[in-house]
Amino acid sequence: MGRASRDKRDIYYRKAKEEGWRARSAFKLLQIDEEFNIFEGVKRVVDLCAAPGSWSQVLSRKLYLPAKLAPDSNGENLPLIVAIDLQPMAPIEGVIQVQGDITNARTAEVVIRHFDGCKADLVVCDGAPDVTGLHDMDEFVQSQLILAGLTIVTHVLKEGGKFIAKIFRGKDTSLLYCQLKLFFPVVTFAKPKSSRNSSIEAFAVCENYSPPEGFNPKDLHRLLEKVGSPSGVDDTDCCSGWLEGPNKVYIPFLACGDLRGYDSDRSYPLPKVDGGTYQSLDPVQPPIAPPYKRALELKKASNQGIREPENLSLDS
Ligand code: SAM
Repeated sequence: MGRASRDKRDIYYRKAKEEGWRARSAFKLLQIDEEFNIFEGVKRVVDLCAAPGSWSQVLSRKLYLPAKLAPDSNGENLPLIVAIDLQPMAPIEGVIQVQGDITNARTAEVVIRHFDGCKADLVVCDGAPDVTGLHDMDEFVQSQLILAGLTIVTHVLKEGGKFIAKIFRGKDTSLLYCQLKLFFPVVTFAKPKSSRNSSIEAFAVCENYSPPEGFNPKDLHRLLEKVGSPSGVDDTDCCSGWLEGPNKVYIPFLACGDLRGYDSDRSYPLPKVDGGTYQSLDPVQPPIAPPYKRALELKKASNQGIREPENLSLDS
């Protein structure tokens, strides 16, 4: 699909470029905020799986820049934003970047060091593994990424804090909901208007972090296993019965974002400028080292009939 054609079919892609966002995902976080007011009183925030950085941009524009530009600001006590991703990303004002893996327990220590030992008010996680197209597999890998995010949450989030995480809806959604409910009395699954209906993605909005009394983060996985295991992983699990029959849980599910706003599943006519032709904008900030970069270089080289240079081999 060419860029202009994508501009037509994906209004949020076009709007992201017009408004200077690095990715259309920015609108998802903004629409979640419209419904849940997630930024209120937030001084320290962690953005897990942040690259290329549109959620970090939202955090910078909503929290850091207004505090920095406030008339009474002396440049001190500004909100702290720590962004983590496996991939490097171009700098964003007010955002501390850490290149790291959220499944590594030491990542939580790095965050706490940046907060001078204090805890975060908000943790957001838009992490996604490379999608295989095998629905069950993608949902399982995604739920593992959320549990890695939850592990970090149990180390860095203050009591009363919030956690927003991307989920893939599927047959283990109830299980994930029950696991999150162990730590948050209020959990809502939200579908922002900018997230296409055809996509299985949604966002868990978890409020008022309240770990069980005497909870030790080391016991997290034992505690989660008591609720159950993803279907098909462990048939012997004895506790998932309470997700069925009269005990079945009903998950609060909410569409968010102005319902009269743009529909992500619709095509919109392209706006004409002065000369009557439409000019597609360049992406605001392409990823600086995307994992697919080598594959693109190889494709380009083969299209130009250039022999594959040794250092471009995908096998290395
Ligand atoms: N929120 C981002 C934005 O608005 O620009 C988009 C995030 S993108 C959908 C998913 C990101 O998850 C990718 O950049 C990927 O590198 C990251 N990711 C996947 N697994 C990860 C892991 N184990 N640790 C850190 N980042 C991870």
